[in-house]
Amino acid sequence: MLRYALYGIAAAMLIALAAVATIASGGRYVAAIPSPNVPVETPNAISKLEDHAPTTMDGSRSLTRRGGQAIAAMISHRSGSRSSYGVICLMYHRFASPDDYARMSGDDRLYTIPIDRFEQQLADLRRLRFTPLTAAQAVAFARQESVLPGPTVLITIDDGSRSVLTLAAPLLRAYGMRATLFITTDPTAYVFDPAKSDEGRLTDDEIRGLDPELFDVQAHGVTHRPLRSLPDDALRHELDEARRVLEPLTGRPVRELSVPGNWYDDRVLEFACRSGYEAVFVSDKGIIRPGGDVPRMPRYMVQGYKSRTGFRKMLSAAFTDAAGHELTHASAARRNTAVGKP
Ligand SMILES: [Zn+2]
Repeated sequence: MLRYALYGIAAAMLIALAAVATIASGGRYVAAIPSPNVPVETPNAISKLEDHAPTTMDGSRSLTRRGGQAIAAMISHRSGSRSSYGVICLMYHRFASPDDYARMSGDDRLYTIPIDRFEQQLADLRRLRFTPLTAAQAVAFARQESVLPGPTVLITIDDGSRSVLTLAAPLLRAYGMRATLFITTDPTAYVFDPAKSDEGRLTDDEIRGLDPELFDVQAHGVTHRPLRSLPDDALRHELDEARRVLEPLTGRPVRELSVPGNWYDDRVLEFACRSGYEAVFVSDKGIIRPGGDVPRMPRYMVQGYKSRTGFRKMLSAAFTDAAGHELTHASAARRNTAVGKP
């Protein structure tokens, strides 16, 4: 009996601690992130991980080490350098088991990520203390309507394939992350393969049932056609119809668009604004910064074969100063001295 009472007291203390931590972290962007069993890395631990980094397809060890050091520097000095953070926006498409991925070739290996690699990336984001944002929160930051609590990430997943639900959702939940889905509304669009259950489009019922704590749903056109090649009427239809279909399904406003295939120009941006979109997400590399281009929001595509070291190097871009220079231990230390930190 006494043992159960002690369990009860311990549980109550944990809940109280979690509540205090949430309040103490302040800021409108700090969600009540659950605490998965993922330790927060110290700079030394990060260096150790870098030493064990596998051979990469897309990044050298020395580049990675520098990226790791920049991240480590920012973590150890984070309180004095908040103004340096930008939002890193990551772009994914489809997810597959490692076995299925091994059988893929060509573009499929680019647009699909094996789920064990995706899990490793989520674990890295947790270890590096990235706070997940919604698309609307990233847009508010770009408009200088708010500040960030520290490193932040906007995970975006384009198209709306069912693998989002069957493979990615449990991992996002387990690692305290969330994602923005940019869904193409026509289930017969060429980006879907209804013959394979994970590669068809999410059904309307599945979209209705998406957990808003895990996903926000935004637009990705109707047919996934190149928007910049369409005549005015067809372009208008792609933009208006996508929102008309998605909003009743989720019961929430659709205010953001990601451009299918990154096929856009100034005319597409102008039409999107006129249609009522507040921001347009593209696939041009870059960090989202206050005062940056709104409605044009840059993203980093995470290729399915991206190595762990390449991914970590990519994340280090979130820790550059306003001029785009990567922060180092020395510059972070100087910055902290300037604001009176030890
Ligand atoms: Zn797409």
